[in-house]
Amino acid sequence: MKGLVIFKRIYWGLLLLSTSANAQWYQHSFEVMGTMSHVEFWLDNSEVEKEQAINDKADTLIQVVKQEMIRIDQQMSPYIEQSELSKINREAGVKAVKISQELFDLLIIAQNISTLSDGAFDITYASIGYQYNYREQKRPNQQAIIEALPLIDYASVQLESSKLTVRYTSDQVKIDLGGIAKGYAVKRCLALLKSAGVQNALVSAGGDTGLLGDRYGRPWLVAIKHPRAENKNAAVIPLTNEAISTSGDYERYFVEDGVRYHHIINPKTGDSARKVVSVSIIGDDPTYVDALSTTVFVKGLTVGMQLINNLDNFEAIIIDNKQRLHFSNGLQQ
Ligand code: FAD
Ligand code: MG
Repeated sequence: MKGLVIFKRIYWGLLLLSTSANAQWYQHSFEVMGTMSHVEFWLDNSEVEKEQAINDKADTLIQVVKQEMIRIDQQMSPYIEQSELSKINREAGVKAVKISQELFDLLIIAQNISTLSDGAFDITYASIGYQYNYREQKRPNQQAIIEALPLIDYASVQLESSKLTVRYTSDQVKIDLGGIAKGYAVKRCLALLKSAGVQNALVSAGGDTGLLGDRYGRPWLVAIKHPRAENKNAAVIPLTNEAISTSGDYERYFVEDGVRYHHIINPKTGDSARKVVSVSIIGDDPTYVDALSTTVFVKGLTVGMQLINNLDNFEAIIIDNKQRLHFSNGLQQ
């Protein structure tokens, strides 16, 4: 599991003991979108269903979650040539491209967050972003960055709602949804579980976690990974019916001449953002908390915290360069 680690406490066993023999937790982890996903939920068999029937229902629900993640991967991956996103990146620079309502709606949310953040969150960061390869320790040179910077501008993505089309102002513009689509996928999966009658569940994709209800009478405990120590946590947060996303500079990075190049790009410089090392955002909506964690990471401690403190219903935990933790106003009460 990436940035957020789901904390298993010793009262796990006690929970099973203290409840009916036919009711239990189900969980499953799988790889999708280049990261680990996890689903965990409670099925309460208070009716007369047989144990086999409830196990079958759990298996079906796990498959529903898995298929939904895979569906969104196929639609929004920049790594899949036939994805809707790849098609847009190939064609929208030369003509208006008709897209699905679902992707259109997500692009509108991305644009709203760009406006809200004065461009700190900007999916056109990919116009330079694709020149970074963290596994191969490759990065664009300064000249390439200077040439690409004018392309990084969310206003270059023109959305026409009456026709459901997207058009870029240049064929050099590229977009990427790595900072928002996993949160969206978590949101979709939770909605599917809820509509199937599940009331207590956790779904995560990498550092993006969404929760339904509590963990059988107690809050879920979600850990924020220590940004510089493997297998250590910086904090453990009790949460109920909320979402939390963490963005960290330790997820995809390499170090060259003492400088850390990582996957969160400041759209104003085309270089990695280096004001903080980890940002976690808590709120109702998994799509927004995903995008806002990336946003606040780019903005840094002072301006990023101010943004969250001015928004209703969102909280932040920021770890600065000296590994000190900072909490938004709502978490200090
Ligand atoms: P966050 O911290 O939430 O955001 C960082 C990500 O947002 C960056 O990785 C980048 O994608 C994007 N970003 C960077 N700067 C900005 C900015 N200023 N504004 C907006 N966005 C920004 N990875 C693979 O290796 N293989 C795959 O097959 C693969 N498939 C994927 C399919 C999909 C549909 C998605 C959404 C991602 C996929 N990834 C894949 C990417 C991988 O999982 C990323 O590491 C992940 O999306 C970043 O997750 P995070 O929570 O760490 O990012
Ligand atoms: Mg994010």
